[in-house]
Amino acid sequence: MTDWTARIRTIPDFPKPGIAFKDIMPMLADAEAFAAAIDTLAAPWRDARIDAVLAIESRGFLFGAPLARTLGAGLVPLRKPGKLPGPVLEARYALEYGNDVLQVQADAVAPGTRVLLVDDVLATGGTLLAAQVLAQRLGAEIVGASVLMELAFLNGRSRWNGPPLRAALVV
Ligand code: 5GP
Repeated sequence: MTDWTARIRTIPDFPKPGIAFKDIMPMLADAEAFAAAIDTLAAPWRDARIDAVLAIESRGFLFGAPLARTLGAGLVPLRKPGKLPGPVLEARYALEYGNDVLQVQADAVAPGTRVLLVDDVLATGGTLLAAQVLAQRLGAEIVGASVLMELAFLNGRSRWNGPPLRAALVV
């Protein structure tokens, strides 16, 4: 299988001084690398009977959609404020560089739906915890969480107290 990890590069001082940003764009642009990354992301969940993938705006969408298709699941976008029509649930969280809010449509999934949380990068873990809160408020059964890349030095995993959290790549 193509070494998709070789197509991820580190950009110093982006988006702020002192942040070493993992840039996944070259990997997405490479057909074989992108396919291999999605296969790696999907592998732990193939028999997990996932009903819906809850994907986090915005880079989580890039992986959540193909992952949902691969797993035969639906896709539920967790979005920044003001993007989703109708009644929404929301969760506030702290980022590595700022604060933010995630929202989901209140009727996105029925209670008991088996869901997988998906994002591109696990950094401090705040974003994934906000997604977990939204899934809990929906009454979903959280089967697990899946990220393309875990930045181990930021210890996000130590804040995660939920079901299995899988990273396709740990750096
Ligand atoms: P956390 O809440 O875990 O601190 O941050 C995770 C969120 O920040 C993810 O949604 C991810 O998109 C973004 N993020 C943080 N650091 C990086 C990075 O180095 N590269 C990329 N692509 N995204 C990052």
